[in-house]
Amino acid sequence: MNKIQAIRGMNDILPSETPVWQYLEATVQQLVQSYAYREIRFPVLEQTQLFKRSIGEVTDIVEKEMYSFDDRNGDNLSLRPEGTACCVRAADEHGMLYNQQQRLWYRGPMFRYERPQKGRYRQFHQIGIEAFGMNGPDIDVEIILLTARLWQTLGLAPQVRLEINNIGTSADRKRYGEALIAYLRQHEEALDGDSRRRLGSNPLRILDSKVPSTQEILRAAPVLADYVSEDTRTHFEAITAMLDAAGVAYEINPRLVRGLDYYNNMVFEWITGSLGAQGTVCAGGRYDGLVEQLGGRGTPAVGCAMGVERLVLMLQESALVPDAALQPLDIFMAVGEGLASQALLLAEQLREQVPGLRLQSHCGGGKLSNQMKKAFNSGASHALVLEADPVGGLSEVKLRQLGEEGSTQVLPLAALGERLQALFPNA
Ligand code: ATP
Ligand code: MG
Repeated sequence: MNKIQAIRGMNDILPSETPVWQYLEATVQQLVQSYAYREIRFPVLEQTQLFKRSIGEVTDIVEKEMYSFDDRNGDNLSLRPEGTACCVRAADEHGMLYNQQQRLWYRGPMFRYERPQKGRYRQFHQIGIEAFGMNGPDIDVEIILLTARLWQTLGLAPQVRLEINNIGTSADRKRYGEALIAYLRQHEEALDGDSRRRLGSNPLRILDSKVPSTQEILRAAPVLADYVSEDTRTHFEAITAMLDAAGVAYEINPRLVRGLDYYNNMVFEWITGSLGAQGTVCAGGRYDGLVEQLGGRGTPAVGCAMGVERLVLMLQESALVPDAALQPLDIFMAVGEGLASQALLLAEQLREQVPGLRLQSHCGGGKLSNQMKKAFNSGASHALVLEADPVGGLSEVKLRQLGEEGSTQVLPLAALGERLQALFPNA
């Protein structure tokens, strides 16, 4: 019988990889908490309408990337392709938004039917940060500083650069869209099919086209910066001034528009050259209209989302994960014949005496020499060897260092806890 395999583009994350994920997740959690962001969790399934109304009908995500289906009730549901819309839905549903300030974050799997390749999957994970009820520009900068600090903490800072842009208000973009259409109409035959179709529906998305011939035509197109209103320009200038004051380097990219319709004013991306075409590791911006667009009362907002797989790839490829995070074990306990029960009790006692100690007690018996081979392969720094004394009891244990020329110490049972506390002070 042929075996059933995982769905293309949906990855298993194996025990050999999870330590990197856990390290990243723990680092992010500690960091966002240090900025007083609180975690919110929402379902992976939502009404399809939520994404149509927020991300926009004429976007790659809604047009061709969502996993949508009718449930048994006839409701059209979609696996969430991103988190911001869900976060707004959840926070507003629970009365957390209007007239309040909220700093929230979320993490979890997202689903998009894309062509799988390195750094691009059909189930992938995002960590997102959203701030509600603040007009900025200080909160915009706080979010950028938070992400900058994350790269610093992870050791990724030298590999990423910040691009920002002001995309104006939706009215600005409408005016600009008309100018862009007028220009692109003159080159219509030379545009790729998708872009030609978007001329009539969502011209700004053409700016984001990855087709080289289209990019060539765009070179001489009108630029959005000439169409943005004074308010947004002031806001944007305040942001760049604060970034300058904080010593954060950035590049203004006038073509940066983002693939989701809800953004306005400031948008940004952190981009790396280390991952080929999948270079954006974190993207976000301001989305002051979204809460209202989803039926809530007007609430300014700004946020971003990072791609966990892409960050994991970078951490792995640059070997940036500290050994301690990759090391799953402190002690391997080899258990001599007849001592199974005593070994379990001793292991329990040690876990109590040495908080955080990672101890694997060998189960299933077998020769001590075979168990020692396992100990050496286990990644543990030390082995405890339990051998019965002549009367079948357990009075002393060997503590063996598992390095090249590891020393062995014989310890009375009663002294073991204290010895391990000294050896693993902050296990
Ligand atoms: P891209 O331009 O790479 O398609 P995007 O603009 O569609 O990205 P967003 O919707 O802004 O991405 O999502 C934020 C981040 O989530 C991206 O910067 C990226 O790191 C990550 N991401 C998005 N789509 C995927 C995917 N299919 N697989 C893995 N990571 C993804
Ligand atoms: Mg995309």
